[in-house]
Amino acid sequence: MIDPDKIKKSQVKKLLTLLEQWTRYEVVSRLAPIEKLEYGDAFAEMIKKENEIRVMLYGTSNFVELGDAWNIIRPRKKKRKTKLYCSICGKVQYDTRSGYICKKGHNDVESLSKKEKRKKFPKKISKKREKSR
Ligand SMILES: [Zn+2]
Repeated sequence: MIDPDKIKKSQVKKLLTLLEQWTRYEVVSRLAPIEKLEYGDAFAEMIKKENEIRVMLYGTSNFVELGDAWNIIRPRKKKRKTKLYCSICGKVQYDTRSGYICKKGHNDVESLSKKEKRKKFPKKISKKREKSR
């Protein structure tokens, strides 16, 4: 990440080069004649240059990381229930930024479908059900 008050001349030069390359790729990707097939990658190259510029300026080109750091994106719900179950304890798994996790904290373990879960962890008969029998 670049501190505007301490930016080095070499960093300025690199940044100016990247900005020109990025602009050139954008011009080509928007305006080059269609028959110029060798320009086909210009759009992809433009995106690469944008990302290089972002990494240089902000340390990352990851939009989620940037959005989090700047507090400008809606935070993802911490726990999003999945339809999958923990293969260790059979509890439902939640989709989190660090992967699938169950209530007991088993992280990134194999997931079971409902059917597989029922087979591995047979349901105990609940008291309610016992009463109604
Ligand atoms: Zn578990």
